Amino acid sequence: MLKIGVLDIQGGVAEHISMLERLSDVEPVKVKTKDDIDRIDALIIPGGESTAIGKLLMDFNLLDPLMHKIQSGLPTWGTCAGMILLAKKISNHPKTFLNVMDIQVRRNAYGNQLDSFRTSLKLPAISKHEIPMVFIRAPYVENVEKDVKVLAKIDDIIIACEQKNLLATSFHPELTDDISFHTYFVENIVKRQ
Ligand code: GLN
Repeated sequence: MLKIGVLDIQGGVAEHISMLERLSDVEPVKVKTKDDIDRIDALIIPGGESTAIGKLLMDFNLLDPLMHKIQSGLPTWGTCAGMILLAKKISNHPKTFLNVMDIQVRRNAYGNQLDSFRTSLKLPAISKHEIPMVFIRAPYVENVEKDVKVLAKIDDIIIACEQKNLLATSFHPELTDDISFHTYFVENIVKRQ
């Protein structure tokens, strides 16, 4: 069984746990402590508020241990706020958080008018079916370094990408019924490290 953790500090934890429960050979685990971090094979950092999650990671002395674990290869997927936490650059925020992925992101990138929206996209590398996508005050990726692989774009803007053990998505697959990004994470990121 692969123990896949969901960082349980703030944000959409239960929804990711329910998705992981649908996958065979996966045991979902809530991650709150350093011991939890040492017990998992992979981690999902959920959506929520990146500044709140970042501050609580510092307050609980989890930021450095988690950063080192990810740098040493822990397969990690950040959804929405989780993507912001992984980034090495945030265009409209003075500091970074985990600082592990070679992407530059913009917080709340879709602005006030298009704050939250749904769409769907055909991504043959991920699924045979069109994938529904939910965006909530979402970030997007403005720039990637060369070993980052772009997985999805909408209107030429990057909304999903991967780099070695890391996956980042602007949107929330856990708020739909579609399991394809969770499956992709397990099969193509976690099992290939
Ligand atoms: N706007 C949030 C942030 O900046 C992210 C929103 C989300 O995770 N749904 O952290």
